[in-house]
Amino acid sequence: MEFLSVKYCHIIMNTCCSIHRAHRMAILSAKEIHYSCKILVVGGGTGGCTMAAKLSRKFDKAPNHVIVVEPSEIHYYQPMFTLIGGGLKKFQSSRRFMGDVLPKKAQWLKDSVTIFDPESNKVMTNNGDTIQYEIMIVAMGLQLDWAKIPGLVDALNDPDSQVCSIYGPETVQGVFDKIKKTTKGSAIFTFPNSPVKCPGAPQKIAYIAEDFWTKRNHRKDMEVVYNTALPVIFGVKKYADALWAVCERRNIRVNLQSSLIEINNFKKEAIFKNLKNPGEKITQKYSFLHVCPPMGPPDVLKNHPALTNEAAFLAIDAKTLKHCRFNNIYGIGDCTTTPNSKTMAAIASQAKIVEKNILNELKGKAVQGVYNGYASCPLVTAPGKCILAEFDYNLQPLETFPVDQKKEMWIMYFMKKEMFPFLYWNFMLKGYWNGPELIRRILNVFKKSS
Ligand SMILES: Cc1cc2nc3c(=O)[nH]c(=O)nc-3n(C[C@H](O)[C@H](O)[C@H](O)COP(=O)(O)OP(=O)(O)OC[C@H]3O[C@@H](n4cnc5c(N)ncnc54)[C@H](O)[C@@H]3O)c2cc1C
Repeated sequence: MEFLSVKYCHIIMNTCCSIHRAHRMAILSAKEIHYSCKILVVGGGTGGCTMAAKLSRKFDKAPNHVIVVEPSEIHYYQPMFTLIGGGLKKFQSSRRFMGDVLPKKAQWLKDSVTIFDPESNKVMTNNGDTIQYEIMIVAMGLQLDWAKIPGLVDALNDPDSQVCSIYGPETVQGVFDKIKKTTKGSAIFTFPNSPVKCPGAPQKIAYIAEDFWTKRNHRKDMEVVYNTALPVIFGVKKYADALWAVCERRNIRVNLQSSLIEINNFKKEAIFKNLKNPGEKITQKYSFLHVCPPMGPPDVLKNHPALTNEAAFLAIDAKTLKHCRFNNIYGIGDCTTTPNSKTMAAIASQAKIVEKNILNELKGKAVQGVYNGYASCPLVTAPGKCILAEFDYNLQPLETFPVDQKKEMWIMYFMKKEMFPFLYWNFMLKGYWNGPELIRRILNVFKKSS
């Protein structure tokens, strides 16, 4: 009875809120504009901060300036999460205050966009402000859908469970303790049936943990299993072959097309769907379970089908990164439809193209910049060992260095652990790092002449 009255109360309140919001929108769209700018950047993560840095150098006088709408106080260097989970870096090294990384020449609104009105070049925010723009860049990243796996949220909240994930800033800090606590049984690592950011990360943490258990002499009492919903271990054949060899050598069992659908924290059981035979469910006991959660576009995009494809990703042209329907909207990073591997490395290459195309557009010139789908993934296989995968839209290797990059190398590990974070904080977020294309061209001259 009490539940019912609470439920009806919610329905009445929601209806009142919707009427109020619709009413307010009608008034706002008629006259009130709280902010106006040349460039509006939605999201101050990797893509948004990079774009704001690049363009606020060109447009820094209000109202012809850059506004960034970003709700979070903290900016994370997410690629560090894998090493933090493996006990190889401190959590503090992955975080900075948003106010310290967003460019001083841009105006930061600590708020989130709730309504897009692309026909009128306006957005509305959670605080009730309306922002008018000339050009908008959408960089909202991916939403982590933890609740889509029944039992996962409870298991992550239970301090005694052995379930963990490197994917969230709140969850990554518990991963290494759980790796240390595991001494026997089945350690299972999962990859979900959805697009994810850094598709290499769910197996990198498996390799790092496996190496830890081997060094602690627990491996003889353990099995290590990688269950992935994908039909391949990695999308690019050259690196997939190398990774299969790593798994065989280290006795890591890989189950393809196996998708986590439920966790029973009490019984320590994980339930998987066999995607080759969808009627079949497989229950596996675990002593340690690392989950990569399902992900998707942010809910606010799901409410704006005019901006998205049918899966609610921002619909942009894969080459120019310009919106497929609205001429003054661009997209960058994980929230878009571009079929590259969703990584920070891809964003570095995309940022140069978005900048070039926006500046041309504003000068009335043709949009000429073309993104080739470059992405990279430093596949750490143990402390001191890393395969640096680099590839394009066609899943063909596009390597920078004049060495065989499918090999596990210490120098690639050093780059992942020390150089890439340095590049990120000091160059990329300041708008000065456009990916390794120039270095690749220079090194290729030497490769050809040798
Ligand atoms: C565990 C892990 C390991 C990774 N490893 C690597 C790696 O080794 N190499 C690599 O290149 N990449 C790696 N990545 C991927 C990389 O971090 C992401 O691809 C990249 O950060 C995505 O940038 P983005 O700007 O698209 O989204 P994000 O950086 O996630 O930023 C999106 C921002 O949008 C904001 N936002 C959301 N909704 C709204 C709204 N309504 N209004 C305003 N703002 C909003 C959010 O608060 C957020 O700050 C890894 C990621 C993870 C999680």
